Amino acid sequence: MALLFHSTAARLPIWQALFAQAAEPFIAGEQFVTDPAEVTAIACWTLPDDLSRYPNLRLVLSVGAGVDHLPLMPPGVALARTLAPGIEAMVRDWVMMATLMLHRDMPVFLDQGRAGIWRTHPVRLASNRRVGIMGMGRIGALVAGSLSALGFDVAGLSRSGGVGAVPLFATSEMEAFLARSDLLICLLPLTPATQGILNAETLGHLPAGAGLIHAGRGAHLETQALRGALDRGHLSAAILDVTDPEPLPQDHWLWHDPRVVVTPHIAAQTDAAEGARHALAVMRALREGAAIPGLVDQARGY
Ligand code: NDP
Repeated sequence: MALLFHSTAARLPIWQALFAQAAEPFIAGEQFVTDPAEVTAIACWTLPDDLSRYPNLRLVLSVGAGVDHLPLMPPGVALARTLAPGIEAMVRDWVMMATLMLHRDMPVFLDQGRAGIWRTHPVRLASNRRVGIMGMGRIGALVAGSLSALGFDVAGLSRSGGVGAVPLFATSEMEAFLARSDLLICLLPLTPATQGILNAETLGHLPAGAGLIHAGRGAHLETQALRGALDRGHLSAAILDVTDPEPLPQDHWLWHDPRVVVTPHIAAQTDAAEGARHALAVMRALREGAAIPGLVDQARGY
């Protein structure tokens, strides 16, 4: 019963050391597999070419927080994603930065600054800014707590809705949720149900002058709809960490529009040691028949 490591060379020595310390069987890459029957789990971003080579494979572990880049697993193979407090804290920090930037009109002031223009604009209290968080999972809930602590008027959207620390809307109540989102933050997983969810219709339900903060996945956002909403003045600005495609081509309008700030998918990066510790917890759970941390429901896609 071993974990096959199929990820980047930079992570390898850290994983190797932590697995050795825990006396957990570890295979450092496909070239080191002597008996494919020993492989019960594979940690990867992209899959090895031929999973059928591993007759006892029980689980594939994504080394990132999402699994949208991976296909459905063969029957009998579970899928899990990395849970790491570091990833969640990093995304929280990026979202806080972006929210404060839009709350305090930084795209406008940066643009004015480039032209040497000293011009003031009215400033709002955080309590007068309604923030809507799409996706109230591990990261969304963390962001909601931090923004509430700063005094923002926060609500969230999840598939199921229900009761939470902030008002929670269900998918069926999306229109009402959008209508109260002066700043809309997308922290959804990419699934068939959420692909293209930031489109002309949904952006149209936002209050006039709203801002968009997007750290989910590029394919959530229809960029032409964003452009239309910005050009009509319906949206004021957007800060995006994820785009479609990635990398974003140098001549793409998103790079060159002063109302848009793009960062190259750096809201979070998985810390190698945290990822390895999570993989160790997954292997322990597999062996003991316990609940797998980060197990993905493959039918719903997250
Ligand atoms: P979770 O799985 O913990 O939470 C997902 C949330 O989305 C849940 O609240 C879920 O609702 C909600 N949701 C799913 N589908 C829908 C839908 N159709 N309508 C409304 N709500 C829906 O995910 P995490 O918080 O850990 O991560 C969220 C995403 O953040 C990741 O999938 C990834 O795309 C992105 N991410 C981006 C990073 C970056 O560097 N930019 C880094 C890490 C993550 P319910 O509670 O009802 O299940």
